[in-house]
Amino acid sequence: MLLTHIRPQKWMLVAGGLLGFVGGMAGLAEPLVAKTVIEAFGSGGSLAGPIVLLTVLVLCGAAISAAGSYVLERTAESIVLSARLGLVGRMLRLRVHDVDRLKPGDLLSRVTADTTLLRAVCTSGVTNGITAVFMLIGCVALMAAMDPVLLGVTLGVLTLIAAIGLFVFPRIGRATAQAQMALGEMGAGLDRALQAFRTVKASGAEARETEAVRVAAREAWRRGVTAARWSAIAGTSTWLGVQLAFLAVLGVGGIRVANGSLEISALIAFLLYLFYLTGPISMLVEGVTQLQTGLAAVTRLREIEDLETEPLDEPVAEKESTPAALSLRDVHFHYGEDRSPALHGVSFEVPAGGMTALVGPSGAGKSTIFALLERFYEPASGSILIDGRDLTELPLPELRAAIGYVEQDAPVLAGSLRENLVFGAPGATDAEIAEVLRRTQLTDLVERLPEGLETAVGHRGQMLSGGERQRVAIARALLRRPRVLLLDEATSQLDAVNEMRLREVIDEVAGETTVLVIAHRLSTVTGADRIVVLEAGRVRAIGTHAELVSGDALYRELATTQFAADSEIMTSVEG
Ligand code: ADP
Repeated sequence: MLLTHIRPQKWMLVAGGLLGFVGGMAGLAEPLVAKTVIEAFGSGGSLAGPIVLLTVLVLCGAAISAAGSYVLERTAESIVLSARLGLVGRMLRLRVHDVDRLKPGDLLSRVTADTTLLRAVCTSGVTNGITAVFMLIGCVALMAAMDPVLLGVTLGVLTLIAAIGLFVFPRIGRATAQAQMALGEMGAGLDRALQAFRTVKASGAEARETEAVRVAAREAWRRGVTAARWSAIAGTSTWLGVQLAFLAVLGVGGIRVANGSLEISALIAFLLYLFYLTGPISMLVEGVTQLQTGLAAVTRLREIEDLETEPLDEPVAEKESTPAALSLRDVHFHYGEDRSPALHGVSFEVPAGGMTALVGPSGAGKSTIFALLERFYEPASGSILIDGRDLTELPLPELRAAIGYVEQDAPVLAGSLRENLVFGAPGATDAEIAEVLRRTQLTDLVERLPEGLETAVGHRGQMLSGGERQRVAIARALLRRPRVLLLDEATSQLDAVNEMRLREVIDEVAGETTVLVIAHRLSTVTGADRIVVLEAGRVRAIGTHAELVSGDALYRELATTQFAADSEIMTSVEG
């Protein structure tokens, strides 16, 4: 997964790495030149040449290293961007089924916080690590050429550090993974509280909800501190190792200089190399640390990347606009293997045009049927047909274009009324908008609003009444010119005027489109061409209001209790 983001940038990474390497090489040559300076000093030769060379080397080395680190950091940012774009692109195309069990706050944290960790993997992790290895090899080779005995002493001490590293690094990775998880929990906790902001306040739950987020924050801190402790141990043991190697080389080298088997200049140059070695070694330690950190993040990102997504929107070719017929045949469905089935063999037909109402006690499976029609979920068995074609045969964008869906608490988004209307049909013309406004009886509302269609409707459409919001949602669905309108009626009471308008709107729409409505009010069911009564995931009865009132006990009970207490209509029908 990391590779897919790194691959497009690989040449930039190589370029950055090479620059860093060349810069490092310039540093590597410095002790050699320093050796000639010391030798020139001893033999009384000219110092100017070697010192100028040394200065040029230092300056060039610095410039090249700076360019290298810029290129690397920039590339790392690009890799983070690529990962973020990829994740964001997938986010809204994830399957409803998967999003049900993921926490939105945790998802957010993965896109924002976890991707940031990728940056470090790409700079310190991959490239610094590789550069460091090259520099180490170069350095060790030069040290070997200079004095194999001293090299042996050095390597002996350094092996010790490597052993410590093997113990420490996995612990850094584990602690980081746990810290990121805690961060995700923190996001999820905050999101949960903010989503129900008013309820949290009304329930006096501020302190408890805050505490839950704090627990996660402290957990992230604790894990972060653990990672920091192990990094500190890794860093210090490196430093200590080099110091010990220095002392050992000084001791062994000193003895050998004293007995004349080693030049003093060679010992000094060797010690300089040893100090130089600190650079690549800490780079390597840092690199492996970052790699561990990054890998923790990559695991979390891969969990999202491994989820299936719906196909990308393809423009739907000119579609039919005639009403469509629907047919459910022995549809079984459950929300998860561990859940009891929500639908047990549901079959019914919805002829093209007209209005069909779904009624039944709460939990009967009405909304589930809507979700299956939109293919938010797939039935476990049985089939759903639209105009005789199985839903699965239709490309998803085509299916969703054919179906208009008005949710129960149809969200009106912050923004202008126009933005809300054209949400599903960005290309709608003013004439089409005006026509839909007329059909949904919103024309007078728009005329009344201070800025007409451009009036902002406020957060979640607060400036509109419940009835208006619902009709705006219907208008939004109609602008897509659906062949079927799925309408989940709001359970909340509408005033008489809005109730009458809703009924007229549904009647009008049913004249041109197939309307399938989850009905919660009597005025809707009495106007339906046919009513499907559901109970506990099964179809119980199908008929008209009059037929069902006399023929189905559950329906009669619903009609008298659940449907709006409009006893006048009830008695007029019953009487
Ligand atoms: P209705 O719309 O008739 O009130 P639903 O279709 O919403 O009923 O629910 C049918 C059954 O499926 C209920 O038992 C409900 O608890 C369950 N259910 C609904 N949505 C989900 C979901 N997203 N995950 C798990 N179970 C669900």
